[in-house]
Amino acid sequence: MQDISYIVGDSLYLNITNRCTNECSFCIRNKAKLFNKKYALWLEQEPSAQEILKAIGDPTKYQQIVFCGYGEPLIRLDVVKNVAATFRSPKKYGSLKTSATLPKIRIDTNGQANLFWGRNILPELKGLINIISISLDAENAELYDRICRSHYGQEAYAAVIEFIKEAKKYIPEVEASVVDLPVVDKKACKKIADDLGVGFRIRSYYKETYVR
Ligand code: SF4
Repeated sequence: MQDISYIVGDSLYLNITNRCTNECSFCIRNKAKLFNKKYALWLEQEPSAQEILKAIGDPTKYQQIVFCGYGEPLIRLDVVKNVAATFRSPKKYGSLKTSATLPKIRIDTNGQANLFWGRNILPELKGLINIISISLDAENAELYDRICRSHYGQEAYAAVIEFIKEAKKYIPEVEASVVDLPVVDKKACKKIADDLGVGFRIRSYYKETYVR
């Protein structure tokens, strides 16, 4: 059994891959078998675009549709583009009669997609995505490497900063986020976000399972 979509608040999240270029020490996927004691997010098989659209059902019930995980969604760039493009063509998607009924489409990402793909993928998201939330996660490369353990080593942090800058050119709303860990200087991270001219959000974590 696997859940391709799950509800948090008034948003529908899409679990499209378990692959990731990080091994974050705080990642919930290593701690909880069931997300929110309810959703089986470890995938037996990555869903196709058609399976994802089926799992969404009626999108007008939600404020946002969020590409997310247990994993890094932009590893499945073509699927993200395909599903998002379907939303942008209401005629292809029965329940979306007018653009006014469209939910906002968001991506939650670790910001390493340009490293993964070896090119700037952000222009490809222009006109498809309303909001991108990029995990900044630390105030410097050393700490980022220590807690996020990227496959790209210390090179990753600079790439994430560059990804945030580049995202502003193509996506209307950009935010940087950090997990509320004691080791992270949230004030310093907020200043980085402010200097980059993007929003800032602190994400909560499961204290009882946090290890470092
Ligand atoms: S980037 Fe996200 S999915 Fe990947 S290991 Fe870190 S918390 Fe988990």
